[in-house]
This record gives sequence, structure tokens and C-alpha cells, in this order.
Amino acid sequence: MSNVVEIDNLSHVYVNERGAFLALEHIRLNVEQGEFISLIGPSGCGKTTLLSLISGLLKPAAGTIRVSGEEIHQPTPKVGYMLQQDYLFPWRTIYDNASIGLELVGKRDEAARKWVMELLDDMGLADVADRYPHQLSGGMRQRVALVRTLAVEPDILLLDEPFSALDYQTKLQLEDLVAITLKSRGKTAILVTHDITEAIAMSDRIVVLQPYPGRVLTTVDVPAGIRDALPLKAREADGFHDLFHRLWGYFEAMDTKGGS
Ligand code: ADP
Ligand code: MG
Repeated sequence: MSNVVEIDNLSHVYVNERGAFLALEHIRLNVEQGEFISLIGPSGCGKTTLLSLISGLLKPAAGTIRVSGEEIHQPTPKVGYMLQQDYLFPWRTIYDNASIGLELVGKRDEAARKWVMELLDDMGLADVADRYPHQLSGGMRQRVALVRTLAVEPDILLLDEPFSALDYQTKLQLEDLVAITLKSRGKTAILVTHDITEAIAMSDRIVVLQPYPGRVLTTVDVPAGIRDALPLKAREADGFHDLFHRLWGYFEAMDTKGGS
């Protein structure tokens, strides 16, 4: 299998007036084509920093990141980034919000329009294409953000807690929809979440980060019986609770180390 993302010996330092802070150190991680991985770990362990580095928004202090074989030095359409907040433009319609990435790369023709409408239709949003963001629920807005991210056909999707601002029922529904959408299109994705059950239910593999400095503590393969089920059903699969307790144990051990 080919690797879509190759991260080698990556470190990141934040520098400000109070000094230098080592946020990530010696990160090594490969993500295969079509793989869905989750990054979990305590608040402040560098999850968002790692996604920002992969997206090219931040420059690493050391190490390299390759996406589809090319080193990342700045933001590129190869990397799609979806955040907890949807950042839709209130003055643009849903269609115009969904197509903004394509507009930025100069694609405004009929084929582009049909493609965006097809994605909106897949997400159950075709009927609201002419509406404005404030007329939609939080879950619908996140679906628009997903369409906008998918429209430019990135090689990798980065998802930073995209479900965490939603109510529980909407979150579970959207998890299934995202899983179906990404799997059926063979998309590669990295999800950041603070919800261990979400990480298990959605992922092929889970990377646990530890803080101060941010490092990979361990990587866990999700067993096939859980992996092959949709997220909602996966929560009832054999082995789900065992895996939850194993991951919870890592968090508890880190908590003790932190001394708080
Ligand atoms: P996570 O997403 O896992 O909660 P972050 O990647 O946001 O963690 O942050 C990792 C660490 O880097 C934290 O300790 C945070 O305080 C620090 N950090 C994040 N952004 C900055 C910044 N712009 N300047 C200085 N420190 C930062
Ligand atoms: Mg974060």
C-alpha cells in the first residue's frame, strides 16, 4: 500500500515573548491510502499543531512532512482541513460556500457546478443550496463544510474535532455519514478528537499522543469487527469496551505523570 502522508522526525517549537515551547518532538507517522486514523491525547498534547503542520499553515522546526510524495511547505489543495467551527461565510449561499475552494483554483464551469451539486445531494443538502448559513442547523452547517472540503478532492482530509460542537444525536448521525462518504470514495483522513469512543468507532488506527513535549505514546490498530461496522453500530461490537478501557488507561497514566 502506498503512503499518502509521511511524517519523519517532526518537531515544532512555538516562540513568543515568554520564550520557546516545544509542542511536538520526534513525530513519525505514515498514513496509507484510504486509511482513517484518529489522533487522541490530553488537551495541549499537540493534536491541532500536528494538523496545522500537515496542512502547511505552520512550518516545522525540524523534520519533514510529505503528502503524496511531495514535501509540504505551504497550504496546498492536496490537503483539506475541516474544523470544529464551520467558518461558512454568512453572506454567501450554501452552494456558494460549498464551491469556494473550487472557485479559488479557478474552477467555475458547468462540470464544477454539477460536482458540487452532486456532493450537496449526497449530504442531503440539495434542497437548501440557495439558503444562507444562518438558516441551517449546526449539523447541516458541518455537512456544508464537509462538502466544501471534499469538493477540491484533497488527497488527505484533516478533521479537527468536527463533531464536538454538535448535540449527541447529530454527532452520531454525522459520524456515520462521514464514515460512509469517506469510505465509499476511498478517502484518507486524520481525525482529531477528545472522544475516545468516537476514535474507536471511526478509525482503522488510533495514535495516542502524550504531552510536554508532544510525542507519540503508542499506536493501536482497531480490530476488524469494530472497523468494518459503521460508527454507531461499532459501539456495540465485540471488543469495543476492552479497547475503550485500554485507551482510557493511557489517559489515566498520563494524568498521574502530570501530577495534577
Ligand atoms: P491540542 O490540540 O492537543 O489540545 P495544541 O496543538 O493546540 O494541543 O497545543 C499544543 C501545545 O502548544 C499546548 O501546550 C499549547 O498551549 C501550545 N500552543 C498552541 N498554540 C500556541 C501558540 N500559538 N503559541 C504558543 N504556544 C502554543
Ligand atoms: Mg486542539
